[in-house]
Formats: sequence, C-alpha cells, structure tokens
Amino acid sequence: MGTDKQYDGYQPYDYLDAGDDYRAFELSEKHAGFEPRTIEVTDEERARLEALTAESVISLHDHAFRFPADIDADLRDYVREGRIHTAYDYLAETSLDAVFDMQFDGLSTVHSLNGWKWDDIVHEVSMRACDIAHSAYARQCRSVEDIHRAREEGGLAVVQALESAAMIENELDRIEQLYGMGVRSMGITYSASNALGTGGGDVYQRDGGLTGFGVSAVERMNDVGMAISVSHASPQTSLDVCAVSDEPVFDTHALAQGAGMGSRGTSDEVFEAIADTGGVIGLLSSTHLPDIESYMEHFEYIVDLVGIEHVAFGPDVLYGDHTELLRVLAASQGMELPDSTLESAYVDGLENPTEAWINIPRWLVTNGYSDEEIRMVLGENVLRALETVW
Ligand SMILES: [Zn+2]
Repeated sequence: MGTDKQYDGYQPYDYLDAGDDYRAFELSEKHAGFEPRTIEVTDEERARLEALTAESVISLHDHAFRFPADIDADLRDYVREGRIHTAYDYLAETSLDAVFDMQFDGLSTVHSLNGWKWDDIVHEVSMRACDIAHSAYARQCRSVEDIHRAREEGGLAVVQALESAAMIENELDRIEQLYGMGVRSMGITYSASNALGTGGGDVYQRDGGLTGFGVSAVERMNDVGMAISVSHASPQTSLDVCAVSDEPVFDTHALAQGAGMGSRGTSDEVFEAIADTGGVIGLLSSTHLPDIESYMEHFEYIVDLVGIEHVAFGPDVLYGDHTELLRVLAASQGMELPDSTLESAYVDGLENPTEAWINIPRWLVTNGYSDEEIRMVLGENVLRALETVW
C-alpha cells in the first residue's frame, strides 16, 4: 500500500471559508521557480522500487507545507495568520508514510516579534493539529503504530516536531504539555542558545555545552517519550546530550564536516556519539548543495563512518522559493546571504518534498544498494529507534 496513497482531495482548513474566516494568500505551486528532474530507472529497477517503497518510508526532517508565492510581500502576514497549509496533495504523490514536520521554526511569530515563545508554539502546534484532524489521508502521529497504520491504509502520519526547546523556558512540565498536544520530537537548541544549552551558532570564545537545566530536560524527555534531536546544538551540547540520554538520540538533519562542509557541518566525533546511543542521523539537503548527487556524497561518507544502521534522510525541504525565503530572513536581520548559498538557485533533483521523496529511493536502487540496505535507510532505522524512544 505504501505507493498507493488514498488522498481524499482535502485542502487545508477546508472546514472554513478561505478569505472570509481567515486571510488567504496565493501560495507557491509545486514546481514554482525550478526545473524538476526525476531519476530514470529501468523496468527491473521500477519493480524493485515498488516493492521497497511498499515498506515504511519516513522523512526525519522536512517542512511539508506551502509558503506564499510572493515571499517578499506576503511571508510576514502568512506567518502571523497562523495557518500552515500542509501540502497534502503534493505529498500524496510520494510513498512517504511518515514525515517529521518542523513547522515554522523561529518564524512562528503570531504573538511575538522574534519567535520561540510558548504562545507562538502552542498556537502553531494546536492549529496544525486541528487541520490535520480534518484530513482523511493525513493523521497526527502519536505512536509507531500510527506509522504502520498510515502505510497499511495509504495515509500519511505527520510527526509534529520542534527544532528548539527554547519555549519551555524554565518549565520542565511544558515537555509533557507539548507531548500531550502531539509533539513527538524536539531539538535542544536552535542556532541560538537557551536555558538548556549552547546553540551551534552561538559559540563566542568557548562552548558551554548542556546546562544543569538541560540535563533535567533531557531526563524528562526520556521519561515522557519525546525524541531528542541535537541538530543546531553546539558540538559540546550535542556530546553532552548523548552522554546524558538513556534513549537513542537523533540528528534529524545534518551534513558532514568530513565530506567538505566545513564548520556548517557536523564533526565525526558527534556523529559517532549519536551512533553510540543507538540513534539515527538524517541527511540534510536544504540550501547548501547543488544537486542530489552531492547530497549522496554526504550520505555515503556518514554510512562509512558510523554504519548504515544509523543513517536516514531528513532533506529539510519545502514548497516555495527557498532561496528567496533565506534572503528575506537574512535581510530582516540586516544581513546578506553568503555567495555559497546563492550559487545554485535550487537543489537539482531534491528541491521540494515531492521531488526528494521520489528521487531518494530511485537514487538508492540505481546506485548499488541492496534491498535490505534500502529498507533500513528509508524507514527501518528510524522505526527501530522510535520503538525504544516513544
Ligand atoms: Zn534546521
């Protein structure tokens, strides 16, 4: 059933009148602003693909929704309207059974100017959950069983996930409240530091690692059954989390320093610490690479380093002009994008979740991976870790 998705035609917030009950925006079309490419397969490879994608296919990190067509003009107002438009129809073209969806991250600013506030996150998580509850194809993912059921029934399990724990402030109980709302995966820090630890973009002269409160938060997340991601955390914070956590640790989206990513990549030491917890590393595409071939160089590097049982895919892509999105975000902080980000306007073969999740399985079957290895990296590795964590 994995490839035969039962999409029911539901569009976001169909239970309301767009433009009347809430402000509607012109949203980005699936292939706006780039030339899509589908990796060619032979008939024999196609038969393998169908069998393999009938098994679990899970994204560890995406933003599976539509941004405004005119990001420069509409982004702020779209965000403040508080209604993420999940791309149910575009996602149903893939064999995805589950997606860890990171929502708006620090852009979530319905109630504040700079984001990551409790009210912002509660607004976004609960509004999104209401919309997902009205879709017959998608369901909020609260358990491993929900992923299996989505695969069997041709649906999609949406794992509501957050990239930072900044909004819990100094309240451990908020971890339980978020779990109660359906959040099943949370980062320790975004690039900025918070009460839990030092952020990856926030190391001045020394890296403070995990705080005492951060240790308590990791323990509470273990107790509650919340998956922990060290993406965006500083190197020392990541190592400390791996040392403290009793459960497998994730890095939902990463590139490797050792495969030429420089300081924006993750070190071998951190990857090895994650693998030692029994955790899983998701491969990040995003904006830093020209095409799916360079993406897979990072995949092969990390597989060689920690073993294929610790690797999965978290492309971190979205529906909309991501380069324009980054430019607008940088400009709002008085910065310009580095040239490296602008070198390629889009990631060839990997630009949005539909293209990514059609091409990732295709690349694997056309590049010498065995059926067993492909099943592991598409879903089994993540399921194994989640069975312990959740
Ligand atoms: Zn991220």
